[in-house]
Amino acid sequence: MSDTPGFHVLVPAAGVGSRVGGDLPKQYQKIHGKTVLRHTLDALLSCEGVKSLHVIIDPEWVTEYQDAVQGLDIGSYIVGSKTRKQSVFNGINKLSYLKDKDVILVHDAARPFVGAERISECAKAAAQDGAATLAAHIHDTIVEAPDYTRLDRERLRSIQTPQGFQYGLLKKAHNLFENNEDFTDDAGMVAAMGHPVTLVTGERMNFKITTAEDMARASRLLAPAIETRTGLGFDIHRFSDRPAQIIRLGGVDIPYPVAIDAHSDGDVILHALTDALLGTIGAGDIGQLFPPSDNRWKDADSTIFVEEALSRVRTAGGHIIHADVSVQAEAPKIGPHRAAITAKLAELLGLPVERIGLKATTMEQVGEIGAGQALAAQVVVSVEFPR
Ligand code: MG
Repeated sequence: MSDTPGFHVLVPAAGVGSRVGGDLPKQYQKIHGKTVLRHTLDALLSCEGVKSLHVIIDPEWVTEYQDAVQGLDIGSYIVGSKTRKQSVFNGINKLSYLKDKDVILVHDAARPFVGAERISECAKAAAQDGAATLAAHIHDTIVEAPDYTRLDRERLRSIQTPQGFQYGLLKKAHNLFENNEDFTDDAGMVAAMGHPVTLVTGERMNFKITTAEDMARASRLLAPAIETRTGLGFDIHRFSDRPAQIIRLGGVDIPYPVAIDAHSDGDVILHALTDALLGTIGAGDIGQLFPPSDNRWKDADSTIFVEEALSRVRTAGGHIIHADVSVQAEAPKIGPHRAAITAKLAELLGLPVERIGLKATTMEQVGEIGAGQALAAQVVVSVEFPR
């Protein structure tokens, strides 16, 4: 879009937006970790041709503003006024160094879904015709309430922003209507002055976040794309002949008269969990990461293996959402320790306990586990990653 004329942008953001609800003005409310204002600014700045951009704010929210624009290369904020119209007027006056033919766009802080191509079309039309606005066609049947008088939707448009103007023309309109508070948009003033406003077809997607319902819709549309991966881990250890007081299972000390045969603490649940986590990022297995030949891991507390695997998963952008554990053992009985093990796994994984499954089964005396010579665990984890 190299033929987009350069343009300047004003973003009035001094209002309260009380129809959305919440403690903060809507432009400072966050959607998926980013303020509405920032979503909007990122959309505007994705269009080639932005020569300058100023946000008009209520200084009461300057901390929220600065947080929202962190790292952006934009002009300093302009102090707003009581109404949107007066705020835009302040902005126009601040940019008095512009030439009459310079193009200036005004865009609502709560319209984050504007596309770069539409912005560019609006700027082009403004440069050529003096005034332009995005205007969406209407596809619903429109009637007057309550008598159901149908209006001709072919003749109707839903006015959006950005609206674009030659600077001199916009300034003239604002000066002319300085004391008239009837206008809800800038193009309306230019039209009332008798200058035609070019209607550039807008997308219905470019809605203004006005109500809590709009906020919820915006949240759905801006949801980051994720994929869920499942990791599987299995581990088995023999019981030794050495007498002991406790064995370690799921990070919890459980009274048991014989020790587990293992290099580390022999915690089959945490070893299977470590492998399950590594499985979600294709990172090999616990034996590769922590070779039994390495004396550092002798009698090691197996939570360190889980923590290392977790750190790798999180570095890869993973967000653990669930773990399910199955233990196979004739003894010890898991039931009395279920709550402690579940709580420990929840703490390790940073999950609520409802997202940890734990079951145990005997092997009905089949095989070595059934003969009480060994115990085993299987774990599956579900992890969300950005797509
Ligand atoms: Mg093991």
